[in-house]
Amino acid sequence: PITLGVMGGGQLGRMFVQAAQEMGYVTVVLDPDAASPAGAVAHHHIRAGYLDEQGLAQLMQRSSAITTEFENVPAAALLTLGAQRPVAPGADAVAVCQDRDAEKRHFRASGVPCAPWALIETAEQLATVADELLPGILKTARLGYDGKGQVRVADRAALAAAWDELGRVPCVLEKMLPLALELSVIVARAADGTLVHFPVQQNLHRDGILAVTQVPAPEVSEALRQQAVQCAQAVAQSLRYVGVLCVEFFVLQDGTLVANEMAPRPHNSGHYSIDACDQSQFDLQVRTLAGLPLAAPRLHSCAVMLNLLGDLWFDAQGTERTPPWAQVLALPGAHLHLYGKAGARPGRKMGHLTITAADAATARAVALQAAALLGLPAF
Ligand code: ATP
Ligand code: MG
Ligand code: MG
Repeated sequence: PITLGVMGGGQLGRMFVQAAQEMGYVTVVLDPDAASPAGAVAHHHIRAGYLDEQGLAQLMQRSSAITTEFENVPAAALLTLGAQRPVAPGADAVAVCQDRDAEKRHFRASGVPCAPWALIETAEQLATVADELLPGILKTARLGYDGKGQVRVADRAALAAAWDELGRVPCVLEKMLPLALELSVIVARAADGTLVHFPVQQNLHRDGILAVTQVPAPEVSEALRQQAVQCAQAVAQSLRYVGVLCVEFFVLQDGTLVANEMAPRPHNSGHYSIDACDQSQFDLQVRTLAGLPLAAPRLHSCAVMLNLLGDLWFDAQGTERTPPWAQVLALPGAHLHLYGKAGARPGRKMGHLTITAADAATARAVALQAAALLGLPAF
């Protein structure tokens, strides 16, 4: 049997492992956490850090090909592995996605618009930053996710204070844009250049974390959908990307499409594809890694995905509870995915719920019922 390896043991790794196992692959996960969601379901779990030489050597020995499940895997580790085994996505592509400045330069080079920005690595750059970038958002260039490592700044004084607060690490200052809504597009590209995509996803964020994804995107014109898909394809092609790539977009109040950031892996906004498409984003990750042909995925149901954060495991008094799954699962088209994480904490991604239906209005109506049962706000 062929063994597929994955760097990282979170929920994305878990769903990759599950898709790979369905196709008969043996799976191996590298993650230091003994209780990692992917390690718990993989055939083999190597408990070591991403730069641990012995861990990497074991992963290499066991795997025919290796992928990653989060963007902060050290590019150096991917380079080491890539010298011996097929690694998808490659170290170069992952390195671009790990650095917001490199990522924006790549968008621009691909002809894809993004927010005006400046790189801030020195006090001098901070002092001379253009006025037109304020008010803005200061984001650490590396390692941020779920809105962490970001501070909204109204003026120069706030900017200087924010840079201190972030530890004076390299940052980008992005102009604050007037958003109408947020979208994402997930593409998969094979080594031979074949490129397929999922439908445009409309995303709602709360407190910097994805809360709701709706497919088809209810408020997006066909022309804008095509534009978003073309942009995501251009970004993948110019990176000569191999694997699954997600590009996040803003639609501005004047209707302009602007790329926000990208993720070199399956994405939270693509989880609906497990239940609503004939192939999921994880199935396509398996195919790109194993060198199998890519066929275009087809959306067979309308879908609304609700992210299930740890907050749901606590009542208003802060007492731990089990969310009312039985009531939720009584709804038609409800698909519950829990990641097997032990400790619920506010903001922690514990699972997701996808509601599928034959039409968008039903999917949305049922998802609103599910949200009400769970105590989540309407959308
Ligand atoms: P993720 O978990 O998606 O990786 P992240 O921490 O990398 O999140 P971003 O996607 O950069 O964060 O930003 C989080 C959210 O903040 C965006 O989805 C959007 O709602 C808002 N935001 C980010 N940049 C801007 C901007 N330039 N103008 C307006 N809103 C923004
Ligand atoms: Mg991000
Ligand atoms: Mg984001």
